[in-house]
Parts: sequence; C-alpha cells; structure tokens
Amino acid sequence: MKIKVNSEACIGCGACEQIAKDLFEIGDEGVSKAKVSEVPEDKKAMAQEAIDGCPTGAIQGEE
Ligand code: SF4
Repeated sequence: MKIKVNSEACIGCGACEQIAKDLFEIGDEGVSKAKVSEVPEDKKAMAQEAIDGCPTGAIQGEE
C-alpha cells in the first residue's frame, strides 16, 4: 500500500501523526507528510485508520 498526503487539502490538525506516528509527521510547513511511500504490511491497518480519520480526506492510499 502506498500513501500520499495532499498538502493543499491538509489543515495540519495532526490526527494522522497521532494515529500513525511511524507513517506521518507534521513538517516545517505545518502540513502532514508521509514518512514512507510504501506502507509495511503490519502497518496497513494503522494507515487505513489515519486515512479514515483525516477530517479533510487529504490522505490518499493506494494498493
Ligand atoms: S489528519 Fe489529514 S488534515 Fe490532519 S494533519 Fe493529517 S493529513 Fe492533514
């Protein structure tokens, strides 16, 4: 699974970082960035939780 944050849509709320700190971090510009492009198998559920929890739908996940 690949993940990507649309920085135009991200409001920097930090929810994804809280849910999945191994996968997302709030960068210097105040928006979230994916720390990895390919999500390890054991972190997929966590990635999906972050995708579902993003209030603006800014995280894109792709199998
Ligand atoms: S949950 Fe969504 S809006 Fe909030 S920081 Fe993460 S990507 Fe941005």
